[in-house]
Amino acid sequence: MQPQQLNVFKFGGASLKDAPAIRNVANILKTFADQQLVIVVSAMGKTTNALEVVARAYAQGDVELAKQKLTELQNATLTTVRELFEQTPPELEASLNDLFVSVEWVFDDPPNESYDYDYDQIVSLGELISSQLVAAFLNHEGLPTAWLDARDCIITDNTYREGWVQWPETQARITRQVPPLLERHGFVLTQGFIGSTSENFTTTLGREGSDYSAAIFSYCLDAESMSIWKDVPGVLTADPRLFENVSKVDRLSYKEAIEMTYYGASIIHPKTIKPLQNKSIPLHVRSFIDPTSSGTEITGDAGDTYPPLVAVEKNQALVNISTRDFSFVAEHHIKELFEHITTTRLQINMMQNSAISFNVVVNDIDDRVERFCKLIDKDFKTTVDRDLELITIRHYTNQVVESLRRGKVLMLEGRLPLTLQMAVKEVPVIRRKEL
Ligand code: ASP
Ligand code: MG
Repeated sequence: MQPQQLNVFKFGGASLKDAPAIRNVANILKTFADQQLVIVVSAMGKTTNALEVVARAYAQGDVELAKQKLTELQNATLTTVRELFEQTPPELEASLNDLFVSVEWVFDDPPNESYDYDYDQIVSLGELISSQLVAAFLNHEGLPTAWLDARDCIITDNTYREGWVQWPETQARITRQVPPLLERHGFVLTQGFIGSTSENFTTTLGREGSDYSAAIFSYCLDAESMSIWKDVPGVLTADPRLFENVSKVDRLSYKEAIEMTYYGASIIHPKTIKPLQNKSIPLHVRSFIDPTSSGTEITGDAGDTYPPLVAVEKNQALVNISTRDFSFVAEHHIKELFEHITTTRLQINMMQNSAISFNVVVNDIDDRVERFCKLIDKDFKTTVDRDLELITIRHYTNQVVESLRRGKVLMLEGRLPLTLQMAVKEVPVIRRKEL
């Protein structure tokens, strides 16, 4: 007998935002009832943002606020449960209750020295809730589904909020645990975004990391294909919330997808593509609103030509660095700067140097830029421009560049044969522009 084909599906927060959305997902899955599927889910709707508020309040000593926000989330969850089930399954009620209690326990202790550690312990709750809820609902709908704790499978180092996957251990655990569950149940449902250190402390893989989780399972299980189900028809030439006249791209190469996501096309998490490419596993981006439409297929290069593809990243800071003694920015300076860039975890999206200055455009996260500037203050003078947008255009044409630049202040520009990037000052109102 041929081994059954296995596919991996990822459903993000928007596809699970409320009871009707979860019903829609179940209906999609019914059309795959005869297949083996690993289903990776994100937290429902905007749960992760809500949990970030909880984590922040707790870290700042405002336990009251943290508790209040957690209770709001618990009530919202129970409302969804009541809308989905005529009678709440007692096991679901018990496991949801345990999950909320486990976070309340965190509040009994003072915040940890490491905010990132506390963040992961609290924010991981979102995926644990949604996975319990959706797995219970699929079983209720006659789709035999095993719930799997991703923390028993995805092992990371202890870089909290951005765990680095320990591949050999992860591979071994997935190969050991998942196939028997698939054999027995058909569907295995697990959480995106979360993992665990080898000492069993919960970690997360970075915001929007559920796509990456699905890619890790796809890789380790040699999946036939992976699908990400979204509220858009596929990969679009630009973000439809920002631009008019966007169109769907039917096919993309892995390389093109890596380039686009790296520069902030938020459709797929940037780490997702590489594991799939390594095993030539096709990635489909499909619509949960129109599940039978074709979507976008991402595979090896087939010599495609592409229209201009635009990615916009907000919350960028331009850091201009020059030596205090006006000497050239020489190699040993750059070495020193990069050491501090690494320790403060600045994420660089663009860089350029001239004789006496070095410029980087980075994601403006927490107080990382301040900490970096302080660390280099003895030898370097810095100026920082905040609230910038980084616009990246692959396969640019002059017309598109002109149109995107209009009405904005250009702070830094870089051109390669296929990629043009510009850091510009954001305009306060989002303006829709013709592509
Ligand atoms: N729930 C997490 C987030 O919102 C992970 C994900 O959705 O991919 O960032
Ligand atoms: Mg998402």
